[in-house]
Amino acid sequence: MSDPVHVVIIGASVARVATAKQLVKSLGSQRMRVTIIDKVGQFYCLPMATRGVVNKDFAKKTWFPLDEWVQGSPPHELVHGTVSEVHTSHVVVKETGTTYPYNYLVVASGMSYCAPFQFQTTNPAEWLKASHAYIDQIAKATEILLVGDGSTGVELAAKLKTTHPNKHVILLHSKEWLLPEDAPLKFRRGVTDRPSVEIEADWLIPTIGETETQTSFMDELLASSALELIHPQTRALRVSPTLQLVHDNFSHIFAVRDVNDTLGIKMAYRAYTQGNIAGENLARLIKHHQANQGEHTDSKPPPQLKEYKPPSTGSRSLALGTNNAIALIPGGWTVSGWLVGVFKRSSVMLWQINSLLNKPMGR
Ligand SMILES: Cc1cc2nc3c(=O)[nH]c(=O)nc-3n(C[C@H](O)[C@H](O)[C@H](O)COP(=O)(O)OP(=O)(O)OC[C@H]3O[C@@H](n4cnc5c(N)ncnc54)[C@H](O)[C@@H]3O)c2cc1C
Repeated sequence: MSDPVHVVIIGASVARVATAKQLVKSLGSQRMRVTIIDKVGQFYCLPMATRGVVNKDFAKKTWFPLDEWVQGSPPHELVHGTVSEVHTSHVVVKETGTTYPYNYLVVASGMSYCAPFQFQTTNPAEWLKASHAYIDQIAKATEILLVGDGSTGVELAAKLKTTHPNKHVILLHSKEWLLPEDAPLKFRRGVTDRPSVEIEADWLIPTIGETETQTSFMDELLASSALELIHPQTRALRVSPTLQLVHDNFSHIFAVRDVNDTLGIKMAYRAYTQGNIAGENLARLIKHHQANQGEHTDSKPPPQLKEYKPPSTGSRSLALGTNNAIALIPGGWTVSGWLVGVFKRSSVMLWQINSLLNKPMGR
């Protein structure tokens, strides 16, 4: 009988949920244990955060407890803690100093963002309190300046204007058209005429997007490799198409979505796709590892692993207030209006996440 394989997953958001689910589905729980470690201990849904900035009731809905989802699937476990060190075969959790050994590790700790999308606490109740205080500040302001014209800035400007029609909402941008230059001009033109441009405000919201990846716990381990495995500017982890770190010594470590350097805009659905690929690849590696246990050499050839191919033109969508949205669909077409708004609505995402989490993982 072979030893159980231990997989540690850092983070409990979109990418990890998909990885763990796919892994347990492919392998069952017979000879494998998954430990998910997250610093906030819950699934915080970033794509729903812009609506949470204007609505206190909705802010609560951006949090999804995971205890039942994981505990319904013993021997897997969820640990509420911050990973502060990663070593070749174990990780350390800062708050308790506990070490968690692993055979395979999945790093999916995402990016860090400014308030109001992330707050400096690991306690969800304190986070919610800080987010409510932020909403109160917005309610008091008469002129709100958003600095940054990416998707977050545009969506938030539209949401603020719809929720507070009497406030002056200003979106500061540096280019002729809004949104990043990788979006087709037709799509960018579809949103440009909505915000006004003037600069005088009593409340400023930075919407410049992500600041950097949350990977400092990897620094010491990766410093020993000859290759630079962390990009010096973006601090993204360098991965192969199979989503493993690009160094033979670290091929038992996967990095999934926002934390890695795969091309394309950072979107939740891509985190989900990558999570599924990492989960499937882990399952194949574990089966191979277990089949070879007890042998002196690896008698079976290594398994064929799945590869992630970044889409050449990604579809994307933007909510423009409560009932309106614009979307770029495959083929380069741009569609907009209330029907697109129905698909883009946060309630659709709420339903999708609830249906993902309403059964124990792996079922
Ligand atoms: C405001 C905003 C709006 C967005 N809207 C959309 C949208 O409409 N559609 C879309 O597809 N995408 C959207 N995105 C992008 C999308 O949210 C991300 O691409 C997606 O969340 C990435 O998932 P992830 O799993 O890689 O990381 P994240 O969702 O960032 O999760 C990272 C997790 O790791 C945990 N963690 C971090 N460090 C540690 C540590 N040291 N120890 C333990 N745990 C740790 C965190 O607690 C967190 O749970 C939006 C992003 C933002 C900021």
